[in-house]
Amino acid sequence: METKNNNLPEVVMPETEPIKILAGQKALVTGANSGIGEGIALELGKAGADIVVNYVTNPDQAEAVVEKIKMTGAKAIAVKADVSKEDEVGSMFEEMFKHFGTIDILINNAGLQQDSQFDMMSIDKWDKVIGVNLTGQFLCAREAIKEFKRRGVKKEVSCAAGKIIHISSVHEVIPWAGHVNYASSKGGIMMLMKSIAQEVAPYRIRVNSICPGAIRTPINKQAWDTPEAYNKLMELIPYGRIGEVDDIGRAAVWLASDHADYITGTSIFIDGGMTLYPGFATGG
Ligand code: NAD
Repeated sequence: METKNNNLPEVVMPETEPIKILAGQKALVTGANSGIGEGIALELGKAGADIVVNYVTNPDQAEAVVEKIKMTGAKAIAVKADVSKEDEVGSMFEEMFKHFGTIDILINNAGLQQDSQFDMMSIDKWDKVIGVNLTGQFLCAREAIKEFKRRGVKKEVSCAAGKIIHISSVHEVIPWAGHVNYASSKGGIMMLMKSIAQEVAPYRIRVNSICPGAIRTPINKQAWDTPEAYNKLMELIPYGRIGEVDDIGRAAVWLASDHADYITGTSIFIDGGMTLYPGFATGG
């Protein structure tokens, strides 16, 4: 398939030696059996963290991710939980503590879309998206913060008592017609993240968001799986290529590591310039 909109060379990601900057740390990645969650889980594993691979459907995919992580030398287990359900989130953390003793890094990634023209949007579609994308991130963050505060800083593991990375979206700032529930959930994540960050900074707990642009995953397949769709998508991306899950995974490793120790309360956009509003490059 021709996926380029110009004559730029193929993207070749630099091969990097895995540096074990997260050695000894325990990470939970929600929705880690697919897409961005899987990409982050694999990168955290390569960086030396032991991983809980959360999933809600497709256990085989979750087990496959666990096996890939184990090949890097890290430990990994798959744990089933619907992040929008308080009791299931509680059980997931208990399971994590039983296996790994504690948590150092939470990646709040699980999310979905249920699109609809606004005046046709059912309350079920609204509740489902807010329930998973926003309430799910609240429930997991709350359990992680309890443990970070209980345990405090362990200097030999990290300068911080814990790190949370919310996976938000460019749609925390870009309005999105036809996706009002999704954009509202992501806008909500911005203030969830900032307010938690403000409250827990004195405990040396860091809370940030990563806001992906268009990343090649199942959630947005219709936006990249034909040349026509891909070329249309490129009109929104000044950098001229779609994002890959590694683009997010590598940034998550750095943001969770002590290399980013002074960063809290921030949204990091990884979007090939989508939030530069490219329509204004020639007009406005
Ligand atoms: P994906 O569909 O591949 O992955 C979503 C994951 O969330 C899946 O593993 C799914 O099973 C899981 N999930 C859904 N409901 C769940 C629930 N109730 N409990 C637990 N897990 C649940 O899509 P993705 O693109 O990898 O999306 C991951 C995150 O990235 C989402 O929060 C999404 O909003 C965000 N995001 C994606 C893009 C993109 O372009 N792909 C852009 C911006 C933000």
